[in-house]
Amino acid sequence: MNRDQYIERYGAIYEHSPWVPQRAYDGGIDPTGDPKDAFCRIVDRAGREAQLALLRAHPDLAGRLGTLTEHSKAEQAGAGLDACSPEEFAEFQALNTRYRDAFGHPFIIAVKGLGRAEILDAFRQRVENSADAERATALAEVHKIAGHRLAAMHDKPPVTRTEVDADALAGLVTGALRNAGADEANAAAVCRTVMAAERDGSESHGVFRIPGYCKGLTNGVANGRAVPRRVAANGATIVWDGDGGYTPTTYEQALPDLADTALDEGVAVLGVRNSFHFAAMWPEVEFLAERGLVGLAATANFPYLAPAGGTSPILGTNPMAFAYPNPDGTPFVFDFATSAMARGDVMLAARDGHALPPGSGVDGEGNPTTDPAKVLEGAQLPFGGHKGSALAIMVELLAGGVVGDIFSDEAGLKGDASGVPPGGVFVLAISPTMIGGEETIANASAFLERLGTQPGVRLPGQRRHRNRAEGKPLRVQTSLLTTLKELAGS
Ligand code: NDP
Repeated sequence: MNRDQYIERYGAIYEHSPWVPQRAYDGGIDPTGDPKDAFCRIVDRAGREAQLALLRAHPDLAGRLGTLTEHSKAEQAGAGLDACSPEEFAEFQALNTRYRDAFGHPFIIAVKGLGRAEILDAFRQRVENSADAERATALAEVHKIAGHRLAAMHDKPPVTRTEVDADALAGLVTGALRNAGADEANAAAVCRTVMAAERDGSESHGVFRIPGYCKGLTNGVANGRAVPRRVAANGATIVWDGDGGYTPTTYEQALPDLADTALDEGVAVLGVRNSFHFAAMWPEVEFLAERGLVGLAATANFPYLAPAGGTSPILGTNPMAFAYPNPDGTPFVFDFATSAMARGDVMLAARDGHALPPGSGVDGEGNPTTDPAKVLEGAQLPFGGHKGSALAIMVELLAGGVVGDIFSDEAGLKGDASGVPPGGVFVLAISPTMIGGEETIANASAFLERLGTQPGVRLPGQRRHRNRAEGKPLRVQTSLLTTLKELAGS
């Protein structure tokens, strides 16, 4: 396990304090051993401020009795907290206010194995503690909770994967899509997109997405028999109508159309309307880079994000991707959402009861919060404050305001449980050679090389291309493979 994998594995054991596993790893811990004692030592030896920050990151369970995430609700119910009398409930709330005022962090207790009366009793006693004594008590509880989490983690059966031949996997994918109502052309286009992501080690947008694509078809939201049409072309601008299908189907013809136009004109813009894009965005810009063109692509989705300074969700998580050609090496390709955190990560944190990093979102009243359940009820925030916010708005204006399709808040009105967002896609293609001359791309390649050789730097896109070049066998989660086989009826 390398450093990043180690921090990812253990980053949530001590609330939002990934510095704990980070220090353990940097201190030379055996990554395969039980980290409990080392983590305890690191937390105990951290300064007062770091310890208080760790305690503050804990979700305020007592302050949210009755309004908790599913995971916390289950814990509360186990302790009988869901059956508080009105008097007990009122006392919990009053103690919680006193406690927070006195110590500046939420009341933390490892509820596993305790009953409501014991918790209330501990609360009454601990609120009388001195600040130092209570910090030590709260840290001891945090250690207990971390111990439970580590035990649960080690009890969990490891994720099993099955090696699968790429053609066989593609067969399952197309079979699943065909069973869900897609015709051959639509199934093949989606299959190519997810198989490319799988090949590059971009698991979150690989075959993992197929159940979602199928659901969008079976519930009638997306058209599996879409016949995309070029509806307008005027000089360097091209517009395609996706016929309510998935965008990869439209791209089969629209991207070559765009590339040809840009190679002729020096620049071209493709607008795709009336389609569902919920794939990664690098495939379209990389397609252009492979043809010597610069690509910029953007699409909006459901309203999850408040603009900087605002509190209501109106923007999508709005990904954008950019690629620059590099004929002798890896093209420079970046592709990410403009939200501080991916939607899925917020949902996972809510499920598991972990706090979010500050700045991830606001609650339903617009107050900043690190509580993921409250962020899901309120709004996520863009990355980088006003800068990310402006980029997210730019994506709306390109995908909606230039392409002439709906904005994220309108997609929300059309929202359903399918999870597939309707909307427009904007793709810009530029020929550096036609603008900057024959040497331009070679000069840029030399620049990228100067950048990429700096120690510690890796350029975006390199990870995927390294995976692609290595061509390792595909290893799909066994449970997902079972689902795909069921969907494909094989
Ligand atoms: P990330 O924050 O994971 O960023 C990914 C990008 O950053 C990649 O280009 C990656 O390159 C690069 N990168 C990551 N780490 C480094 C590093 N240490 N140094 C240099 N570059 C790095 O992306 P998100 O979580 O925001 O988005 C993930 C995916 O979700 C994207 O593909 C996006 O298009 C997709 N998405 C799609 C939506 C839709 O509606 N269609 C909505 C939201 C997101 P590399 O690939 O080489 O690792």
